[in-house]
Amino acid sequence: MAAKEAGTIAYEVLRDRMVQEQIESRGIRDRRLLKVMRDTPRHAFVPDDRRDSAYWDMPVPIEHGQTISQPYMVALMTELLRLTGDETVLDVGTGSGYQAAILAQLARRVVSIERIPELARTAAERLAALGFTNVEVVVADGSAGWPESAPYHAILVAAGAPDIPEPLIAQLAPGGRLVVPVGSGGTQVLTAVQTLPDGTRMTETHGPCVFVPLIGEHGWKH
Ligand code: SAH
Repeated sequence: MAAKEAGTIAYEVLRDRMVQEQIESRGIRDRRLLKVMRDTPRHAFVPDDRRDSAYWDMPVPIEHGQTISQPYMVALMTELLRLTGDETVLDVGTGSGYQAAILAQLARRVVSIERIPELARTAAERLAALGFTNVEVVVADGSAGWPESAPYHAILVAAGAPDIPEPLIAQLAPGGRLVVPVGSGGTQVLTAVQTLPDGTRMTETHGPCVFVPLIGEHGWKH
């Protein structure tokens, strides 16, 4: 018991340091987001033998050749969605479930979509064990979105797409925001799209990034 408590305290220290040195220092200012990243046990979302690296400044390999994104990238993408607490959010690429856990504490409801059933199952179990009741994990091709729960106020894609997947734009509510890494080959450009009430869209880019591929009908074919 003493060892477990000591371990928990150590993780809190690592998280504080992660937020200060990797996230605040790079310009993330959203107070709610910083608090949620301080509170969320990232080590619970990585394989047991990777727990030591959970708070490092890098993506960490998870099962099935996938990765849990770098903490700063999770923070940056989340901040770009400008959540205030009332939103329905689509999270494409559940992976470990960590990004979904962050979003679930900043929005009303999260639908998280994953193409690999085993990852989806593990993430759903983890989220339930941590007490999340506002995240629904579905197994499907997220490059086509998830029309059943559309429209979304915000959509976050944690996998690299060759182009902005059109179905995702179609499933955004007016004024909604989409964040997606776009690019061919191994690197992408972090791209943020906002739909305006008159139906036009505004697109901004936020620098280079590296994600595993978005594989699906509106992503890479294999
Ligand atoms: N957000 C995750 C990081 C996921 S890595 C986390 O916090 O851990 C990207 C994930 O996207 C992988 O799990 C991969 O299987 C999934 N993925 C790739 N293409 C997909 C698609 N078309 N639909 C749903 N998930 C997809």
